Amino acid sequence: MKKYDLVVVGGGLAGVATAITAARGGMHVLLCEKTNALGGAAATMLVMPFMPNATKINDEVRQLSRGIFEEIRNEMIKFDGRAEVAIKSGNLHFDEETMKIVLNRMCIKAGVELLFHAYLSGVTREGDRVVSATFATVSGPFTFEGDYFVDATGDATLSTLAGCETILGREEDNLCQPMTLCFRMGGVDMEKFQEVKRSYVNVLYKERQAKGEIRNPREDVLTFTTYHPDVLHLNTTRVVKLNPTDPFDVTKAELIAREQVVEMVDFLKSLPGSGMENAYLLSTALEIGVRESRMVVCEHMLNEMELKECTVFDDAIATGNYDIDIHNPEGSGTSHYYFKPGEYYTIPYRSLIPKKTENLLVVGRCIGATHAAQASIRIMPITTTLGEAAGHALAQCHSRSLSNVRDVDIRALHEVFEKSNVSYR
Ligand SMILES: Cc1cc2nc3c(=O)[nH]c(=O)nc-3n(C[C@H](O)[C@H](O)[C@H](O)COP(=O)(O)OP(=O)(O)OC[C@H]3O[C@@H](n4cnc5c(N)ncnc54)[C@H](O)[C@@H]3O)c2cc1C
Repeated sequence: MKKYDLVVVGGGLAGVATAITAARGGMHVLLCEKTNALGGAAATMLVMPFMPNATKINDEVRQLSRGIFEEIRNEMIKFDGRAEVAIKSGNLHFDEETMKIVLNRMCIKAGVELLFHAYLSGVTREGDRVVSATFATVSGPFTFEGDYFVDATGDATLSTLAGCETILGREEDNLCQPMTLCFRMGGVDMEKFQEVKRSYVNVLYKERQAKGEIRNPREDVLTFTTYHPDVLHLNTTRVVKLNPTDPFDVTKAELIAREQVVEMVDFLKSLPGSGMENAYLLSTALEIGVRESRMVVCEHMLNEMELKECTVFDDAIATGNYDIDIHNPEGSGTSHYYFKPGEYYTIPYRSLIPKKTENLLVVGRCIGATHAAQASIRIMPITTTLGEAAGHALAQCHSRSLSNVRDVDIRALHEVFEKSNVSYR
């Protein structure tokens, strides 16, 4: 059985950031991903753009996700000049095909060993230590041992299979934020469409919803432009009250969402003068987007009040101020809590440490956080930073032969953050 210093499960931005950082820190790292590409939700769920994570202090813009997140964006600019134009205009759009290529190259350059088409299916543990992870592959199960493990699956699958406690969705009823199948339309006359979108698209959408002709419960039509002048990105389907960790529920969600896509395409094409006359359904995401599912019960459960009070934790590893953005788990409507200029919160290292484990960290959208806190920390810039922080912490564990991730020297970790331009305070 092959053994690694670190086994990372999940090739989303959090897992990639962990793997690259740990490999640069001298670890022999295996990164396993169930699909064929890196980028996670951006690659498989067609999620775009990056949501902003910045604030203004004394008239100066302070980016709250820097370090490897900036590095990834700069690599994308180098690969594809269109990104530079977008970034200069303050826009956080990106092209997922560029991202997939850039992340592959960065991982390979850092010495990360990659395994695609590998679906985590089992975990063994001895006492408080995770010993091995098993993956379903085209040639049957493959098992790997590791000194340390990172759960970057988004759904906390590794932690769950390791027997860790998790929570699901809202405290009162376990309902999660809605699932959304993102899709793209091509052949759009963008100028005309943007004009009608501003004037009457949402009025007509609401009218048709009231008549029962549109069954999608989302309150409005949510669209973004893309790099391609005639391609529109739609993040507007909404499936509620289904459990993203129940495969039958997820199947049902995929079926409902695909019908919502048909409904939306028909609706937009039916609008006179909307620029949609020659438009067509170009693509749907490989899988329905899951905003929220299981969160791991960690040494610290980050909560809404800590975010709103901008708590500065001694063991802070990341900063954020994206709004607390809760898409209604029951139907229509989206609630927002916006941070004032200059306000931002920190995230503690303890929120990455599952209880009753010694050699496991969790990164990304399933860290130890409540439903409301997760609604802010879940955006890609922040999940990338969480991964980077975990990578630095584990590199320290490796170099100091620490068997328990709790023994990380936080002051030394902060010194590394300073050198790596990680925003943590
Ligand atoms: C519809 C939608 C819209 C969003 N809009 C935005 C937005 O506009 N901007 C923004 O910044 N954020 C947005 N988000 C949030 C953001 O995309 C995610 O929260 C973030 O990408 C999570 O990152 P992650 O690395 O934790 O998980 P993911 O990106 O989900 O990565 C997890 C990876 O693990 C892999 N994996 C899972 N299970 C297994 C397994 N058993 N075995 C092997 N591999 C596995 C997956 O294939 C995936 O590659 C949106 C999310 C959704 C769903």
